[in-house]
Amino acid sequence: MAASPVRSPRWPCTRRASTRSSTRRTPRTPPTRAVRSSSSRTTAWRRCAPSTPMDRSWSAPSRASRVESSATPGKRLGEQADVRAQDGDLGAVTIRRATLARVLREEAVRRGVRIEYGKRLLAAQTGPDGRVVGSFADGGRAVGDVLIGADGIHSLIRRTIDAGAPRPRYTGQHTVCGYTRDATAPPAPDTYTMVFGKQAFFGATAAPDGEVWWFSNAPAAELSKAELAAVTPGQWRERLTELFAEDQTPAADIVRATGENIVATAAYDLLSTPVWSEEGMVIVGDAAHACAPNAAQGASMAIEDGVVLAKCLRDLPGPRSALAAYEGLRRERVEKVAANSAGLARRNAPGPVKRALRDATMARRLDRAGTTGGDDWLTGYRIDWDETVSA
Ligand SMILES: Cc1cc2nc3c(=O)[nH]c(=O)nc-3n(C[C@H](O)[C@H](O)[C@H](O)COP(=O)(O)OP(=O)(O)OC[C@H]3O[C@@H](n4cnc5c(N)ncnc54)[C@H](O)[C@@H]3O)c2cc1C
Repeated sequence: MAASPVRSPRWPCTRRASTRSSTRRTPRTPPTRAVRSSSSRTTAWRRCAPSTPMDRSWSAPSRASRVESSATPGKRLGEQADVRAQDGDLGAVTIRRATLARVLREEAVRRGVRIEYGKRLLAAQTGPDGRVVGSFADGGRAVGDVLIGADGIHSLIRRTIDAGAPRPRYTGQHTVCGYTRDATAPPAPDTYTMVFGKQAFFGATAAPDGEVWWFSNAPAAELSKAELAAVTPGQWRERLTELFAEDQTPAADIVRATGENIVATAAYDLLSTPVWSEEGMVIVGDAAHACAPNAAQGASMAIEDGVVLAKCLRDLPGPRSALAAYEGLRRERVEKVAANSAGLARRNAPGPVKRALRDATMARRLDRAGTTGGDDWLTGYRIDWDETVSA
């Protein structure tokens, strides 16, 4: 597989879904400024700057242009530079989920999109006139030409479209994330640190304001939501500190320096969903395909889906052809990314022989590659917003 974890932006983050401008067509309004280009991105970030210093729904993104990888015991595997940023491209961006949600929401509102909060969809069906009716828990209804099911990995719309749709699969790991300002050895400002530990994987980067953002993928038995919620930040800290204790890397110190800002989740994936659309309903993002967190691409794939679906709805005459074209343009790529991420999950903390092999392979690959470029199948993917989609 061409992509390695060192090429991927990480949690809490997303990579932009790039759109490339074209001179061949009349420029059209892109779906959101936050995912458009370096210059428009700057505008969007500025517009969404925090209204108070304590506003935690906004923090500037981190743009590490180097990835440093190491393995246990304190072994440096190599480093990779992201040349895309030097080429005028945005490159890898690490961004808090709340910041991304805020930027997207503010841009949508600015463009006149009406957003309603606190609505839980209970059911959806297509009427004889071809229009889709959604029913909500508060007794409300909504009617439209198309229902886009962006309702995540446990999607109701996926099951509505196909009652036999596959269920998400537990990937055998917990993802634990944290924030700290007290790390004694934080990553350098432009660097993403990756640690292939003996028992778990660790990644960290420093935000522009110095806060360290980290995550870990740690093999573990599946816990229910209630069981996960019962584990305190202190217990996660203790568990991870133990997992990284022997590695002689910065991971244990960064985890130890983290206070209450630790959250954990069980990681699932969904490699392929046979039916994506039916009678005016369609699924996007995790509802259609979910990646294990190892390649750190799920949000990026969801954003790409949104941009491509918007193009199809814009250019094709009716929902049926638009939804079919969207699936045709997206299925191969998202399934490849999900399979790639599942492969990385399997390589997380293997036994001693496989670990030695993995470390040697990775060191050789980093030595050879040296850079992350725009030609990479995973991160070099571009969507030409101005190009017309044909059926
Ligand atoms: C621990 C972890 C780490 C990750 N790391 C990364 C990373 O580094 N990079 C990356 O790109 N991706 C990452 N991902 C993946 C990323 O978070 C998801 O792929 C992305 O959020 C999918 O977006 P989505 O819009 O499809 O679904 P979601 O973000 O899950 O949004 C679905 C929304 O639908 C709502 N909803 C669900 N059902 C209903 C209903 N019936 N009625 C109304 N609303 C409903 C939910 O409340 C939710 O708000 C990670 C995921 C996890 C769990």
